[in-house]
Amino acid sequence: MDLAQHVKSQLDIVRVISDYVPRLRRFGNRYSCLCPFHNEKTPSFSIYADHQFYKCFGCDAKGDVFNFVMNIERVTFWEALKKLAEQNGIELPKQSTAADDKTKTRAVLREMHEIALEHFRANLADPNGAQTRAYLKERGVTQQSAQLFQLGLADPSGRTLLRLLEQRHFKPEQLVESGLIGRNENGGLYDRFRNRLMFPIHDESGKAIAFGGRALDPEDKAKYLNSPETEIYKKSHVLYNLNRARQPAGQLDRIVMVEGYMDAIGATQAGVAEVVAPCGTALTTEQIRALKRHSQNLYLNFDPDSAGAKAAERSIKLLLDENVRVRVVELPGGLDPDEYCKEHGPEAYRERIAKAKPYFYWLADRARERFNMRDPQGRNDVFKFLLPAIQGLNDKIERVSVANDLASYLGVESGLVLEHFRKMAADRAAERKVVPQADPAKATDQRLLLLLLNNEEAREQLIDGLRDLPDNGPIFATLIAMHDAKDAIDFNSLHERLDKPEQDRLAAIVLEADGSGLTLEDGVACIDALRRTAKESARRELKAQIKAAEREGRMQEAIQLVGRLAELA
Ligand SMILES: [Zn+2]
Repeated sequence: MDLAQHVKSQLDIVRVISDYVPRLRRFGNRYSCLCPFHNEKTPSFSIYADHQFYKCFGCDAKGDVFNFVMNIERVTFWEALKKLAEQNGIELPKQSTAADDKTKTRAVLREMHEIALEHFRANLADPNGAQTRAYLKERGVTQQSAQLFQLGLADPSGRTLLRLLEQRHFKPEQLVESGLIGRNENGGLYDRFRNRLMFPIHDESGKAIAFGGRALDPEDKAKYLNSPETEIYKKSHVLYNLNRARQPAGQLDRIVMVEGYMDAIGATQAGVAEVVAPCGTALTTEQIRALKRHSQNLYLNFDPDSAGAKAAERSIKLLLDENVRVRVVELPGGLDPDEYCKEHGPEAYRERIAKAKPYFYWLADRARERFNMRDPQGRNDVFKFLLPAIQGLNDKIERVSVANDLASYLGVESGLVLEHFRKMAADRAAERKVVPQADPAKATDQRLLLLLLNNEEAREQLIDGLRDLPDNGPIFATLIAMHDAKDAIDFNSLHERLDKPEQDRLAAIVLEADGSGLTLEDGVACIDALRRTAKESARRELKAQIKAAEREGRMQEAIQLVGRLAELA
């Protein structure tokens, strides 16, 4: 058994996936949920415990437990294997350092980030960090928070991290690839972060993969400087603080989203631990998919300035596209979350979140300021402006009720509202998709395949009978070839070797059925039935040929064919 099989044999794909996607529904040996890889409103993602396989009938994501972890964590095969082994206490052989180049590079970059993190933290704790510690105190960041968020300090020299990494024998290319070290036109290397308060950015499992640095010198032109994208850091995929927020978010079933690192720290200090922030970018679909695995209820708390409001508007649209339920937290006095917490205390901030209204009231207020509400045309424009947002609502009854609320809020005639919704409902119905169903005529194939996949003893007994069938098709032919090559046979290994159309056929035949009760006798009966069917169709074919030969006066040939027909009987 190879290493991958060894690890896989000790895992349960249902348990692994349920760590990422809570609220699986069970149907016998199949589990179902909303697909984590594409956006949908009704579940087309299934996990098949018998075959240790998942498949989405919406976007065609599919595979085994390694494929799932590779895709959802965006890691290489070796990283997925190692991660699963570690998490499940499966010991890997000492020699199992085998990995591809990409995995090795990623491991090196992570190690460098670990070293940088400790270096920056030591700087902050050092006597030379006194001024920065005083700055943090003045900003209201407690020592406990500085520890929790692993805050650090990049000193002004521009050389110390470089020297440290060189001492550890990292190569110049690796230094530059990490994003921690820059290279000037003359080829000289230098610390990218100088004289900055450092916020480490972690992946979901809590490993440092990048940094955000806030300038400590007010003269510095770039107030915030972030790591560039690297092999381990794609900024559009990462949310600041999700590694810490994921657990409370799951428990409370809500996530608060703020704009900046300091806001996230301020909110956490106020007892709102379920807080995340985009890392210096506009919110992306990938980030939303990462957060909605933990909760579908998002409380948006961006800055109240016009840039923040624009970012919120754009984010609401993306969030609704991904079926996230959005509320907007409004803080009076033009304060950002960090400032509000400091001025009004944690209690008041938590109350603001509890009282946050659904996004459409906030949008309506924004629109009111922009259009002339005294004019019927203006009110109509406002409504048009709000329509895409309401369209995003999941529930039909909710859509209508929101529309009525909004109509009276804006003073728009409700008949106009309902007309829009009727049209939208019609459009929606037109785009609904159909999940492919197994062909009921294939019941015999299905039973036989299930038995051959699940029961090794039956497979040994039946394989020769299967071989004798005149036309056993590509799926059975592949299965026979695998058996002859003494390969391990299960759904995954068979699926891997088929072409795309046959893969789909195999999935349609096998996945939805339960093969646990099938016996060798059932298998024998299936092969008999298939043989009879094959004979029957051969006979029909011969009869047709005989008729054609007789009609066209080819009597010699007709007599020959009659002889073959008799042989068949
Ligand atoms: Zn999907």
